[in-house]
Amino acid sequence: MTATAEREVWFLTGSQGLYGEETLRQVAEQSGGICAELSRAADTPVAVVWKPVLTDASAITDAMLAANSAPRCVGLIAWMHTFSPAKMWIAGLDLLRKPLLHLHTQANVELPWSSIDMDFMNLNQAAHGDREFGYIQSRLGVARKTVAGHVSDPAVVRRVHTWMRAALGLNALRTLRVARFGDNMRDVAVTEGDKVEAQLRFGVSVNTYGVNDLVEAVDAVGEGAAGELAARYARTYTTAPELAAGGARHDALRYAARIELGLRAFLDAGGFCAFTTNFEDLGGLRQLPGIAVQRLMADGYGFGGEGDWKTAVLLHTLKTMGAGRPGGSSFMEDYTYHLVPGQELILGAHMLEVCPTIAAGRPRCEIHPLSIGDREDPVRLVFDARPGPGVVVGLADVGDRFRLVANRIEVVPPAEPLPSLPVPRAVWRPEPDLRTSTEAWLTAGGPHHTVLSTAVGAEELADLSEMLHTELLLIDRTTEVRQFTKEMRWNQAYYRLAGGL
Ligand code: MN
Repeated sequence: MTATAEREVWFLTGSQGLYGEETLRQVAEQSGGICAELSRAADTPVAVVWKPVLTDASAITDAMLAANSAPRCVGLIAWMHTFSPAKMWIAGLDLLRKPLLHLHTQANVELPWSSIDMDFMNLNQAAHGDREFGYIQSRLGVARKTVAGHVSDPAVVRRVHTWMRAALGLNALRTLRVARFGDNMRDVAVTEGDKVEAQLRFGVSVNTYGVNDLVEAVDAVGEGAAGELAARYARTYTTAPELAAGGARHDALRYAARIELGLRAFLDAGGFCAFTTNFEDLGGLRQLPGIAVQRLMADGYGFGGEGDWKTAVLLHTLKTMGAGRPGGSSFMEDYTYHLVPGQELILGAHMLEVCPTIAAGRPRCEIHPLSIGDREDPVRLVFDARPGPGVVVGLADVGDRFRLVANRIEVVPPAEPLPSLPVPRAVWRPEPDLRTSTEAWLTAGGPHHTVLSTAVGAEELADLSEMLHTELLLIDRTTEVRQFTKEMRWNQAYYRLAGGL
């Protein structure tokens, strides 16, 4: 689902024919070395593929067109080792549809003070070559990330990696298909949005199916398959005795397993990597899908409750971006507060649908009544979230555009055990403090449904928002409400002007 092994970014090196064969041979050798160093770095999320040095306009244009049409290529890294007159890049950059990272680096770390001569000066010109490239990108309004420094510096490699992860997320979005079982929860505003604009801006296709189409898939699941999966649940999780084989409510566990198998079959047959449900529209389903949704999220599927397709889209994107990293990402909802002065915390949960990739330990598989949905008691996994730094992010449609709102957080253990709360949950301290965080979030019109991620950070989100030309309002330790409100107003003007250009 979130496999990125077959994706790659291309490493482009700019120069020109004027330097002659010998210098260009050295340029190629040194840029190959930089590229190899980026590929070798631990945790490289995607392969880096070196391309021959570009020395004229037609080769540059060909490289950009090839990148646009290569399904494996999720982005380009460009470095001007020498001086590459930038009018040669205009046509190519204007055609480019993939994310771009401008790496401002050079082959050597130290200046060879005692031996530097004109041959060295002729070869190592990124300091001005990259300025020429920066100029033309700004002149053309090319969205990109600029990273400066030597590739032997782990901070440089880390920033390149965050961009790679954002590029992988964008790539997933471009082909994402979302299935909605039923429509939006009646009268809810923030979960609505412009699906046509979403398809143009993000690439995602969002369509609704009758919930009874899903019921048909659930009913088609064989008894044997449901029994096997129920047995796997019992082996994998600390399962309540009443649900275990021979227990009084084992039938409910088997039905939950049927829902998972039916959902999986429906999603996989349609090529869907994200979905939504709506407890007001469950058709012939006997339980609200709980453990099924939780386990599908753990496998990389995006999910949103109450018809919330925007959060489902965001969750699949962040899961792709964070694949292979420690931590996880989950559908989340701000629920209730601990308001003791100096110890303020947010308790987040949903009725059932929190992803076990953020669980602190082995989840418990339990069954309890649910006050909504008017169906049989649903089976769910119950756990606390693993402590550590993270981010919550929401996507809102503010009328003329989409807006991402994000808050850096610290997931913490609950202050005390929560023995009477039969749902999975996370407790966190928002940056910079609860008052500033919530005042800023509410001022921004951020949604109550979010993605909580401990695998993806604020820099990846900033890179993604740049690639999507979509506003990101970040609430972190530097946020101050008065300034934040001004930033919002400036953004309002900027995005309207930029949209009209
Ligand atoms: Mn909800």
